[in-house]
Amino acid sequence: MSATDTPTVSRHMERLAAEGIDVVRVTYPDLIGTERARDVLLDHLPSAVEHGLAFCRAVYHTSPQGDTVAVPGGLDAGLPDIRVVPDLGTLTALPWEPGVATCLGDVTDPATGQPAPESPRDLLRTVLDRCAEHGLRPVVGPELEYFLCDADPAAARGWRRYSDADGVVYTAGLRADPDNHLLRTLRLLAAMDIGVSSGNHEYDGAQFEINLTHSDAMDAADRAFRFKSAVKELARREGRLATFMAKPFNEAGGSGFHLHLSCLDADGDNVFADPAAPHGLSATARHAMAGILAHAPALTALANPTVNSYKRFGPDTLAPWLIDWGLDNRSAMLRVPPERGPASRFELRLGDASANPYLLVAGTVAAALLGVLAGEEPPAPLEGYGYDAARSPVLPMSLTAALDALEADTALTGLLGKDFTASYVAYKRDEVARFHRHVTDWEFTEYAYHL
Ligand code: GLU
Ligand code: MG
Repeated sequence: MSATDTPTVSRHMERLAAEGIDVVRVTYPDLIGTERARDVLLDHLPSAVEHGLAFCRAVYHTSPQGDTVAVPGGLDAGLPDIRVVPDLGTLTALPWEPGVATCLGDVTDPATGQPAPESPRDLLRTVLDRCAEHGLRPVVGPELEYFLCDADPAAARGWRRYSDADGVVYTAGLRADPDNHLLRTLRLLAAMDIGVSSGNHEYDGAQFEINLTHSDAMDAADRAFRFKSAVKELARREGRLATFMAKPFNEAGGSGFHLHLSCLDADGDNVFADPAAPHGLSATARHAMAGILAHAPALTALANPTVNSYKRFGPDTLAPWLIDWGLDNRSAMLRVPPERGPASRFELRLGDASANPYLLVAGTVAAALLGVLAGEEPPAPLEGYGYDAARSPVLPMSLTAALDALEADTALTGLLGKDFTASYVAYKRDEVARFHRHVTDWEFTEYAYHL
C-alpha cells in the first residue's frame, strides 16, 4: 500500500490527531537547499495528498533577495505550477512548535506528470537509481558547521558573532557557549528524530558543528536538509541568526559541510573495504576516489555554490584549496578516516555549509560512480601537510570558474541531466552577474579616501 492510499492517510491522521497535531508543515528544498513550505490544517491533509499543493515553479528560480531569475520553464513559460505531494513516510513532530508535525513533499510538473527538472530530491533519486543499476548503495554521514549571531544594531551588518572568544576550539560548555545554545539545540533536534548524534563548539568563536548519523544517501540528504532548516528556525525563536553561509566573517574561518561516504553492495557489505588491498581500501574505493578527484572542479559548482564559497578555500584553513587526497589527513580535500573493515569510508571536505544537501550528495555520488565505471586510479596519497600547489592542482577559485567547469564536464552533467544543469547554471550565473554589478564595502574602504 502506498503512502497516498486513503486507508494509509487515515491512519496517519488518526495517529497525528491522537498526538494533538492539528497542522502538517509540508516542506521541500528549492535549488539553493532552503525550505519552501506550506502549513496544512490536518483536516485538509487528504486533499493535499490526493491533489498535491500548487506552488509556482518559479519558486526554484527565486533569488535569496526575492527576484525571479529568468530560468527556462519559469518566467518564459508564464510562471506555471508545480505540485507538491506530502510524503507521509517522512512525518515527524516539530518539538518546538506544539501541534505541528512536518513532512517532506515530492514535486511534480503537472504539464508532464514527471518530477520537476529542478527538484533536488528527484535529482538525487535519479543518481541513486544509476548507482543501484551497478549494484551500489551509497551511505552518507553529514557533518555541518555554522555560525551563531546576535542582533546588534551598532554592527555594520546588523549582526555580530554570538561570542568572539578565541581558542575555544573543539569544546563544549559555558567556556565557549555562555548561553548553552548547543545543549538546547541538540536536545530539540534529538526530539525531532533526524539522527543527530553529537556537537561541539568549532574552531572559531560562535561557530558550532553538529554531526548526523550515517544512513542511505537519500535519507541522509533529507536529514541534513531538515537539520539546516531546524537550526535556523531554532535560532530565530531566540532572536538570533544561525548562518550556514560559507565564510561570513573576514576574521574567522569558514563553515564546512563534510560528507562521509561509503557504499554497500546488495548484501549490505561495505564495498570500500578490502583488508588485503593497499591501505585496506578496495579497488571500488580507489576508483570512486579517483572519480571524485577527476570531477572535483565541476563538483565545486554544487558543493561550493555561492560567490562567497570561494573565500573559504585557501592554504592553512582546514578547508581545501587543492584537489588531493590523504590517509587521515585533514589538510587534504578527500580524507580517508583511519577506520577500516565495515567502517571504511572517505570524508569529502570540499563542500561548504551553504551547499544544498541533495546537490552535494548527488554530485559526489555521481562523480564517484563515474570513477568506478571508468576504473580510474587515484594518484599517490598526500604525505604530510598539504596546501602545496606544486604537488596538486588548485580548485576553481570563483563561482564562475566552477560553473564553467561544470558545463565542460559532460560526463557529470550527463548523469545530472541536461535540464537540471541548464536551470542551475542559469540561476547561478545570474547570482554572479548581480554580485559583479554591486559596489561592495571592500571597494569603498580600499579606494574612496585615496583615489
Ligand atoms: N571549518 C573547516 C571547513 O571549513 C573545517 C574544520 C574541521 O576540520 O572541522 O571545512
Ligand atoms: Mg569541523
